[in-house]
Amino acid sequence: MSETNKGFDLSRFDLNDEQLDSLRLEVGRLTPSQQELLTSQTREVKEELLRIVRPFIPTELMKKYQNIEGRIIFLSKYEFNRVISSWVGQEYQYHPKTFAITHHTGEFILMALPAEFSELVPIEKQLDSDFEAELIEISFVEFLAHEMVHLLQSPETPAIVYELAARWYARQVVASLTHAWLEERLENLRVEYFQQALERFGDKLHYYVFNPSRLSSTQRDEIFNYFREAKDMLFPKEMGL
Ligand SMILES: [Zn+2]
Repeated sequence: MSETNKGFDLSRFDLNDEQLDSLRLEVGRLTPSQQELLTSQTREVKEELLRIVRPFIPTELMKKYQNIEGRIIFLSKYEFNRVISSWVGQEYQYHPKTFAITHHTGEFILMALPAEFSELVPIEKQLDSDFEAELIEISFVEFLAHEMVHLLQSPETPAIVYELAARWYARQVVASLTHAWLEERLENLRVEYFQQALERFGDKLHYYVFNPSRLSSTQRDEIFNYFREAKDMLFPKEMGL
């Protein structure tokens, strides 16, 4: 079924750069200086993530990665909800506390504005005076890195690995950039579990995440089983998957 939204044919999600720009203009409510700040923050995150994952990702993914900042739309939570419920929502289940999604078919990321992430952040960490300080303090960078990792992953990746990997790589980026991360028991446990898996499987795990065809099916099964065992502990009632 074809659905239109102010002139876009949203039954197809493979938006080109121009269409993404139009969508950005339609729903974006950023001042030029906020947009500039977000773009430079995005580039900083991208460079750092690239430094970590470059050896493990296939060449065709690198191409996608080069223009990743052009594939992200920042929008108000209101517009975010509107956009995903009108079209992306048919494909994605989302929770009211969803603030960012990665759309694989369209190869883009939608993210609610930094200030709105404050709902997810403990009150004592919230700031509202300085936009830049806010970006750093509310773990926005972590969310941004998390979604970028998703864009580099195959949507076929088993959900548990898809989510744990995004969390682990995002933490590495945040730590190198010395920003804050969301300090939460379950989140910490998830990152630790992935860390343990890395100690056990080494680079094979990086390949499993970004380029699984490099591994044999036995190797892939072994890794998948390691994660599957922990699914209920790390994602009780599938929360967070
Ligand atoms: Zn995720």
